[in-house]
Amino acid sequence: MLGAVVMGVGTAGFVRIRDMLAPLPSSPAEKLSVKGFISRRPLEEQQGVSQISLEEALSRKDIQVAFVCTENACHEDNIRAFLQAGKHVCVEYPMTMTHKAAVELQDLAQQKGVVLHEEHIELLTADFKQLKKDIAGKKLEEGSLHFTGGTLKPGFGLLAFSGIARLTWLVDLFGELSVTKATVEEQTDKNYTKMTAHLLTSDNRPLTWVEERGPGLPRVKNVNFRFDTCEVTKLPAAAREPVGIFMQDMVMFAGKLLGQVPPEQLEAETRRVLHCLELADRIHELSRG
Ligand code: NAD
Repeated sequence: MLGAVVMGVGTAGFVRIRDMLAPLPSSPAEKLSVKGFISRRPLEEQQGVSQISLEEALSRKDIQVAFVCTENACHEDNIRAFLQAGKHVCVEYPMTMTHKAAVELQDLAQQKGVVLHEEHIELLTADFKQLKKDIAGKKLEEGSLHFTGGTLKPGFGLLAFSGIARLTWLVDLFGELSVTKATVEEQTDKNYTKMTAHLLTSDNRPLTWVEERGPGLPRVKNVNFRFDTCEVTKLPAAAREPVGIFMQDMVMFAGKLLGQVPPEQLEAETRRVLHCLELADRIHELSRG
């Protein structure tokens, strides 16, 4: 068994504890055993699990794994501390707020011989899997992905990073991209912000990615992908899968810990993660003018 600690007990942290307490039967996730959680606030037991300090988690030999579920702005320091201590890390996306930091952390994980996994539940949803099947083999002419959502909570950072799930969709669907232009419009008094990134596929097909956040905006993804043979103007309505998306991610992470994931797959995943963070960096840079 691999002992695990969960750092940050918000929405994601709660789910991680829940899933370790009731893992998918006969899956690698059964090998994880939750030993405690870390919070900045003194808290009572959560789902029967006790609070421990960061120092204790870093030094305990029976804790080999950490789930970093804090706000985006503190991921980097927390990941580094766990990796330095020789622990495997699963971090909720985005891994870091710069590409450079993610490269350093990947290198550190490699030096220490541990796994650094970035969760990407957005790739595991039934609607995304169906969309990917629906467009397989079609040739993109142009497309857009427009996300709207409520105001970001403090500590969740720049739109290009907090919205990395949408960028990851585009990269997973259409391959590596480049950024030609990016703008950010902000109305601080209204807590409103909108980022528009103009992207190109490797065969020069334009894609537009918009992230728009403000009070009361519904959490919606609007897509419009024009292909040589058809147009996709809404997400497919796929039935929810019996295994939840965080559990699917935990099974993948635990599979990596058990050495069950082929090296080519690990390399491709790391390349995609770093590519998306590099694009986010570039979008941020261009949007500052
Ligand atoms: P949240 O605000 O509900 O939870 C964050 C928690 O971390 C809070 O309880 C906060 O007090 C705690 N925290 C922050 N810094 C800490 C520290 N130094 N030590 C201990 N605890 C600390 O946010 P969330 O929705 O759970 O998101 C957490 C992370 O998960 C983010 O990176 C987010 O991008 C990612 N994520 C969330 C979801 C989701 O469905 N909620 C999905 C995918 C990814």
